[in-house]
Amino acid sequence: MSDSCIFCKIVSNEAKANIVYRDEQVTAFRDIHPVAPTHILIVPNKHIESVGTLEAEDEQVVGHIFTVARKLANEEGVAAGGFRLITNTGANGGQTVFHLHVHLIGGQRMRHPMG
Ligand code: 5GP
Ligand code: ZN
Repeated sequence: MSDSCIFCKIVSNEAKANIVYRDEQVTAFRDIHPVAPTHILIVPNKHIESVGTLEAEDEQVVGHIFTVARKLANEEGVAAGGFRLITNTGANGGQTVFHLHVHLIGGQRMRHPMG
């Protein structure tokens, strides 16, 4: 738990969010500025800054995030059409919130990220 971290506050219910899934390891909530019809953020309940600070002990929760992404993609009705999972890391990666998260984005055709 980091006192200044907005995602830690969402995990602990100190800050409001539209939460769509929660268990003992992860919390998933709708992005406040959605870029597609489905835009959900899946975060570990534990404060991990980014992929850049991942420890070996975090492997299980990172795998669990992908399993939850698959489940939510099904619930949102975007699994058949396809969807995208994104994790921005550090300044050059475009990360703006420094609590590890995976964006689940779907419901529209996306351009290829490599151009
Ligand atoms: P990043 O830029 O770090 O990959 O993604 C951060 C995401 O968090 C952005 O898409 C931004 O819209 C979202 N975000 C930032 N602050 C909040 C918040 O307080 N609540 C919610 N639901 N999303 C947020
Ligand atoms: Zn945090």
